[in-house]
Amino acid sequence: MFLFIAGISPGKPQRWRTLKPEYCPHCHNTERWILEKVKHNLTFFFIPLIPVRTDYLYYCPICGYQKPVDKETFEYKIKFEAELIDN
Ligand SMILES: [Zn+2]
Repeated sequence: MFLFIAGISPGKPQRWRTLKPEYCPHCHNTERWILEKVKHNLTFFFIPLIPVRTDYLYYCPICGYQKPVDKETFEYKIKFEAELIDN
C-alpha cells in the first residue's frame, strides 16, 4: 500500500491598504480597501513545496464585499496606489 500525505494549503497572506478611500456598493461606506495576496502551495507532510496558485483579493474592510481583480490590476495597485500592512 502506498501512503503519503500531500495537499494544497494557503500560505501566509500579504495585505496592502489602498491610499485612496473607495466607495463600497454593499455597505455604503467609503474606506481604504484591502488588497490581499494568498499563495497556495502543494505540501508534502505539511512542508510547502511548490506554489500552485495565487489568489488576488480586493475587498471592503468593513463588510468584506469583494470586487474581482486581475493580476495586472492588483500588481499596479500595490505598486502605486497602496501601502503594505505589517501583520
Ligand atoms: Zn462594505
